[in-house]
Amino acid sequence: MSIEELARKNVRDLTPYQSARRLGGKGDVWLNANEFPTAVSFDLSQQTLNRYPECQPKAVIENYAQYAGLKPEQVLVSRGADEGIELLIRAFCEPGKDAILFCPPTYGMYSVSAETFGVEYRTVPALQNWQLDLQAIADKLDGVKVVYVCSPNNPTGQIINPQDFRVLLEMTRGKALVVADEAYIEFCPQATLTGWIAEYPNLVVLRTLSKAFALAGLRCGFTLASEDVIALLMKVIAPYPLSTPVADIAAQALSPLGINAMRDRVAQILEERQYLITQLRDIACVEQVFDSETNYILVRLTASSAVFKSLWDQGIILRDQNKQPSLSGCLRITIGTRDESQRVIDALRAEKV
Ligand SMILES: *Cc1c(COP(=O)(O)O)cnc(C)c1O
Repeated sequence: MSIEELARKNVRDLTPYQSARRLGGKGDVWLNANEFPTAVSFDLSQQTLNRYPECQPKAVIENYAQYAGLKPEQVLVSRGADEGIELLIRAFCEPGKDAILFCPPTYGMYSVSAETFGVEYRTVPALQNWQLDLQAIADKLDGVKVVYVCSPNNPTGQIINPQDFRVLLEMTRGKALVVADEAYIEFCPQATLTGWIAEYPNLVVLRTLSKAFALAGLRCGFTLASEDVIALLMKVIAPYPLSTPVADIAAQALSPLGINAMRDRVAQILEERQYLITQLRDIACVEQVFDSETNYILVRLTASSAVFKSLWDQGIILRDQNKQPSLSGCLRITIGTRDESQRVIDALRAEKV
């Protein structure tokens, strides 16, 4: 047997997640991964690298619990929110039997994680306004153990109606988890569902330090849920999911000073987003600029593939969303610095329609 044939069938068939980094590009304006545009610096205070780290570093958990208004027992820290997505499938879905469900257009890792574990994924396309099609979800829930709902949604940028979340949480009660992926919640903090965890034992909230906290390279994310859910995830998580330097920096980022700095960054991004939206609405090849509650905006363009390529060749790397259902002609632009916005604006202005 060839090495290829030795592998599991679902792994042979797997298309890995097309991350911004994997897609490559040679650019000097990187607006394709929803990162914060400038680096924040830290000093390492833990010099005990001869020792294994704590599985769930106390300072990180306590700081995050405080920040989220939850008890430490309701918080799990992992190698990015992406690992949280995976742990939920590993702990709750029987391969070949149970399924997960999500509503495209949305984040790409839910399907990749399900495929990796040989778990079926079911999709229910979002409505035309990108809200949840609750009736269609209800009709497809048989055998579903985890429903992933990204809010605000990547890549469309809008918040999912809280009332729809309530209906979904009621219809899945005792049957399935509802996972609210709040990777971008710092840009619209009023929309968080963490306050509902006490009320709904099947609600899970995912968070990350990769976006508003400007720490995508750190690989640190959080799963927030009832103590029962967290206890189950603790059974399947790696013994040392975070290295000592990661825990050290995460604890600093989540200190009162770190959180204040994050809020200043959010204010800066929101201001820049307004500037970019106003400018984009005035450009010939731009057909539509969608409202956003996040640090990126979705834009529909005339001849979007050609525009994407043209900007790529100029070193301006955006994210093509053209292949996602209902997003034909759409590109996603991360909010960067004013210089970066200006590069995008000038390049788009120069495009012939
Ligand atoms: C960026 C992102 C994540 C992943 O966050 P990491 O903590 O970097 O793994 C999860 N969900 C959504 C919707 C994201 O955009």
